[in-house]
Amino acid sequence: MRRRVVVVDANAIIDHDALLALEVAVTTPSVIDELRDGHSRLRAEVSIAMGKLKVLSPSSEYVARVARLAEQVGSLPKLSEADVSIVALALELKESGESVAVVTDDYAVMDLVRRLGIECRSLRTSGIRSTRAWAPYCPACRRFYERGLRECPVCGAKLTLRPVRARKRR
Ligand SMILES: [Zn+2]
Repeated sequence: MRRRVVVVDANAIIDHDALLALEVAVTTPSVIDELRDGHSRLRAEVSIAMGKLKVLSPSSEYVARVARLAEQVGSLPKLSEADVSIVALALELKESGESVAVVTDDYAVMDLVRRLGIECRSLRTSGIRSTRAWAPYCPACRRFYERGLRECPVCGAKLTLRPVRARKRR
């Protein structure tokens, strides 16, 4: 059976654990450009180096088709260049005979993807979102604290970020 190609947006790249769970993830150069902070960029670079993420450009014909569709349904103002590019890439892959799905939490993107008859998965509802979340942790007291704290309110030690089991998002 042919492996499914999964087209991912910036959120899936930022959520690195989710990305690693996907077989072949592809994204576009504009999505990579949209990753502003160094940490997210580094994650993307590591994923690319590990062969977990491929960067492909959709052809301009497909970008134009998706932009036209978005204009017709009125969602174009809500979409970034990166959003349009992943939908265009997914459409191009689908029309070249690939089995493709798009992973996004953006409603405007989801809507377009579904209109084009392409499978769409949400990071939040598909269960592929990482079950881990990070919280400040005091290595001396061995306790987790609320987000935003930098020092332990009990002993004053510098807090570090550690993964905790996340509550299920609904
Ligand atoms: Zn402490």
